[in-house]
Amino acid sequence: MNYKQALHNKIFEVISQASQELNMKSYVIGGFVRDLILNRDFKKDIDVVAVGSGIELALKVSQLLPKKPKVQVFKTYGTAMLRFEDTEIEFVGARKESYHFESRNPVVENGTLEDDQNRRDFSINALALSLNKENFGELSDPFNGLEDLKNKIIRTPLDPDITFSDDPLRMLRGIRFANQLGFEIEGNSLNSIIKNAERIKIISGERIVDELNKILSTDKPSIGFLLLFKTGLLDIILPELTALNQVEEIEGHTHKNNFYHTLEVVDNICPNTDDVWLRWSALLHDIGKAPTKRFNKKQGWTFHGHEFLGGKMAKKIFERLHMPLNHKMKFVQKMVMMSSRPIVLSQDTVTDSAVRRLVFDAGEDVENLMTLCEADITTKNPNKFKKYHNNFEIVRKKIVEVEERDQVRNFQPPILGEEIMELFNLKPSKEIGMLKEAIKEAILEGEIPNEYQAAYQFMLKKAAKIGLKINAC
Ligand code: ATP
Ligand code: MG
Repeated sequence: MNYKQALHNKIFEVISQASQELNMKSYVIGGFVRDLILNRDFKKDIDVVAVGSGIELALKVSQLLPKKPKVQVFKTYGTAMLRFEDTEIEFVGARKESYHFESRNPVVENGTLEDDQNRRDFSINALALSLNKENFGELSDPFNGLEDLKNKIIRTPLDPDITFSDDPLRMLRGIRFANQLGFEIEGNSLNSIIKNAERIKIISGERIVDELNKILSTDKPSIGFLLLFKTGLLDIILPELTALNQVEEIEGHTHKNNFYHTLEVVDNICPNTDDVWLRWSALLHDIGKAPTKRFNKKQGWTFHGHEFLGGKMAKKIFERLHMPLNHKMKFVQKMVMMSSRPIVLSQDTVTDSAVRRLVFDAGEDVENLMTLCEADITTKNPNKFKKYHNNFEIVRKKIVEVEERDQVRNFQPPILGEEIMELFNLKPSKEIGMLKEAIKEAILEGEIPNEYQAAYQFMLKKAAKIGLKINAC
């Protein structure tokens, strides 16, 4: 590859000029170089390392650019960032790092390019291209990263035990890169992850979740999750999932391994949604099964109430990993709690009223719920597979019909409590609740349409039955 040509872009020319004026060496390094060589989609972030002050270099670059973009300075980290067109360029001074056992925050000193490459996580992320006039575009590759890129290998630049123990987040990054890029983690590095897995405990939930989200955003997240599982990391991060890895047999009855089933569901959902929260829902949809598993002679294995418990467990996971406790959490919880509803429909004759209830309960999320449940079909029996999918097709069609006719998605009671109170001269009371509930039930059951007149007549009949009289005055 002709790197000089690949860097033929205004921004690199300007950085080069700024470096020269400051008499400071600079290099583009890391993910950008890796992705350039892999011919991956161009990323929107570029990392530049300066042998000197990254902040000074950034300020100079800004001066030389026609629009003089604003430089964001992060003093504590000694870094600076500016935007050029739609790219974010991050400048950092070359540094040497040394770590303490308890923390992933190193003691930092100024260093050489080589020192800076030594602190990188993987050989493929330590590649640097010179932005200096005398050797513009020359590749610096101290750890044979180019070879590893060719052979699709993830390998730490130094002794993996040091690299991973220094900053255990790198274990997750390695697995995430293996998943994203379709690479293998080299044997020593993989063994070292197994050895250092416990160290992940010093990493914050937010950072762990960042990596999990990236794994979940790949085309086949099971690859990443299996690596997390085999290295022992998953057991520490999400023990609720590894608890599903069991198959028990009593009196010839077995149940499926819900861990591998879950990973299949996650892979299945990927072609149908990019929404990471729906993918989380797929990941967590069965977590209630481990604690609710029971055996009895009549029914064999049961998981009664696993959806409800699973929803509560999902919330705990969000809390533990410092995930957002907002509508995203509520969404995942709702998906887990409702995850068996459409399945029941798909096994039976699909009735209008069952579909109406589903739309009523799922509201705006009914399509997402259907997508989750379709992914949940992992039966290897082709007849069942076809039957379930066909039934889901019917459910989807009926959802549209029911929507048009009955509008139960964002159900508004056709008769308000105030009207009932006035009509029967009642104070707020149990009777009003009963009448409203009866009207809603009649609509969901399809006994009456979701319309005022029909609901009014129905209510009069119901009221007469419980002895209510219309207010005469
Ligand atoms: P992507 O942007 O796709 O996540 P990336 O490799 O660019 O991949 P960044 O987090 O943007 O990842 O980091 C940029 C570079 O900084 C990396 O290529 C790597 O050289 C270095 N780096 C980032 N995080 C670490 C870390 N925890 N330990 C060591 N080096 C790191
Ligand atoms: Mg990057």
